[in-house]
Amino acid sequence: MRVILLGPPGAGKGTQAKMIIERYGVPQISTGDILRAAVAAGTPLGREAKTYMGRGALVPDEVVIGIVRDRLTEPDCHGGYLLDGFPRTVAQAEALTRMLRELGTPLPTVVSLDVAEGELIRRLSGRRTCQTCDAVFHVEFHPPRAMGICDKCSGRLIQREDDQEETIRRRLQVYREQTEPLIGYYQTQGLLKRVNGLGETGGIFARISSILERRDGQGAASQSH
Ligand code: AMP
Repeated sequence: MRVILLGPPGAGKGTQAKMIIERYGVPQISTGDILRAAVAAGTPLGREAKTYMGRGALVPDEVVIGIVRDRLTEPDCHGGYLLDGFPRTVAQAEALTRMLRELGTPLPTVVSLDVAEGELIRRLSGRRTCQTCDAVFHVEFHPPRAMGICDKCSGRLIQREDDQEETIRRRLQVYREQTEPLIGYYQTQGLLKRVNGLGETGGIFARISSILERRDGQGAASQSH
């Protein structure tokens, strides 16, 4: 199963990604998570990425394309993968299409999670992340049992630097300008599936999995004939 999860910041990609990898056993490739780990470790990649991430800008295409190329060639990705947060620009999408052609693997299903902008701001500005284990909570929709403390590991909950209101607005603007054109790009290729990202996470997941299973079923059927 090969999947790209597309959608604005706050659409629920991270939550749905976790459910997809658990159900289908494919590895998750999240460029945001890889970059945050590099920032936390203070590597040269992390030091470069931090200057962009802190202000809600995109890290340069060649940097993230290199990260994804390295990751996709690892053995655990041969049977499938879930891309979350990549591609984010048409240049990244074109590089990915070339990469997959070179690797000789089928093109992924592209699931676009659609959520209106007012709702995105509400979701992102209330998000709190555990400094220790990266678990995600929300002051309104998924509050921790004790204010400011992670239910899972008792770590401190913080507001990610890029979840602060001004940076959120900047990230949404970057999404509209640089990432939204991907919807047209994948629609033209016949790979795009749009999913309403409002409602219960379980209901959204049901909509996504019915799309993915239909496509995988079709793949199996066409191979068997
Ligand atoms: P995310 O967790 O996916 O919202 O990513 C957090 C930040 O990491 C973004 O605001 C960007 O600065 C950077 N980032 C993640 N993925 C990409 C990508 N595919 N291209 C460029 N920058 C990225």
